Amino acid sequence: MRVTLAIIILLLVPGLPYRASQANYTPSFDGEEAFNHLVAQTDFGPRPPGSDNLTKCRNYIINELEQIGWTVSLQTFTYMDTFITNIVAEWPSRSPSFFVVGAHYDTRPYADQESDPTDRTLPVLGANDGASGASVLLELARVLPESIRGSVEFVFFDAEDSGNINGWDWIVGSTYYVDQLD
Ligand SMILES: [Zn+2]
Repeated sequence: MRVTLAIIILLLVPGLPYRASQANYTPSFDGEEAFNHLVAQTDFGPRPPGSDNLTKCRNYIINELEQIGWTVSLQTFTYMDTFITNIVAEWPSRSPSFFVVGAHYDTRPYADQESDPTDRTLPVLGANDGASGASVLLELARVLPESIRGSVEFVFFDAEDSGNINGWDWIVGSTYYVDQLD
């Protein structure tokens, strides 16, 4: 009975089945899992820098990463009177040299390139431009073999897509991230 219970718990805890079978583990990227992350993000609504929706989205991403064992730190700074937050995920045993796999999770405040001029003041929902990249990172973080997790840092950038709006520049979050590297 105790053994059965232990097996059931093992199957219910996310991440554990992967760790238990690392020797024969073949990574399998699940598009459906990634799409679920996309839907979860767009459900928060448009997610421009500094918005409550982006904070909710950030908390979602942090929670998903921590649930599967990644250590999450936040890189925060202020730009144009707006609080900006990059999300950085590393495996507890990260090596000194590592690959950065990044995507931005913020969305553009206005659809200023929209073909219909009446839509150009609307915010972008960002299913593709925003959520899809972050979704791929989250699914990669789940399926990546443990043997190489220490060689990767996943970074979810903020403030990437507001260029040419209200005096903002492009790629603000990733520029800050690179400036902070040793
Ligand atoms: Zn973009």
